[in-house]
Amino acid sequence: MLRVGITGGIGSGKTTVCQIFETMGINVYYADDRAKYLITHDSELKNEIVKVFGEKAYLHDGTYNRKYIAEKVFNDESLLQKLNAMVHPAVFKDAELWHREHANDPYTLREAALLFESGSYLSLDRILFVYCPKDIRLKRVMDRDEVTAEEVQKRMAKQWNDDKKRRLSDDIIYNDGSQSLIRQAVRLHEQYLAMGIAH
Ligand code: ATP
Repeated sequence: MLRVGITGGIGSGKTTVCQIFETMGINVYYADDRAKYLITHDSELKNEIVKVFGEKAYLHDGTYNRKYIAEKVFNDESLLQKLNAMVHPAVFKDAELWHREHANDPYTLREAALLFESGSYLSLDRILFVYCPKDIRLKRVMDRDEVTAEEVQKRMAKQWNDDKKRRLSDDIIYNDGSQSLIRQAVRLHEQYLAMGIAH
């Protein structure tokens, strides 16, 4: 089975592109959604988080105290690194199990905003980069999340720049309005199917 990773800057359209692949029957692992799930459901990970952040990391009903953790890591870069060093391996393990469950698929997609930053690209066969210029991304995320330009820029600053990601990727989808998204996805789908069979 061919493992394809899909990444791109915040608001570039990764989820939108993945949804097109899903309509063609392809299974997608959404790393960010799974990370959120694991943080509240994986007891090993929860214990590690409590060890570093204390009991306040979770509310009485067991839900993750996102606000508290966000405030902590916002003021301390080393704490953010510690949090990532706990969450990324848990997601990696979970994704490996998921891939095993889908071993008979011709190919799968693994979507992650921090595919390169987390190092998970190393276990994938091919990387697809979704490109969209910064100014369009900024506007789309502001509309989608109802946040200010400043907040989006802050999130953007935490990610590697597009040039670096592009250089490390094998394929690209342009989501800047210059080409049809569906046509580009269908072309890559056919390519991945052929590669999956040969793999
Ligand atoms: P994030 O990094 O925040 O997870 P993402 O890369 O998954 O974002 P999407 O959520 O797919 O990006 O897209 C961001 C926003 O832009 C969404 O509201 C989506 O509906 C919109 N969008 C994506 N592509 C297009 C497009 N071609 N035309 C118009 N709107 C679009």
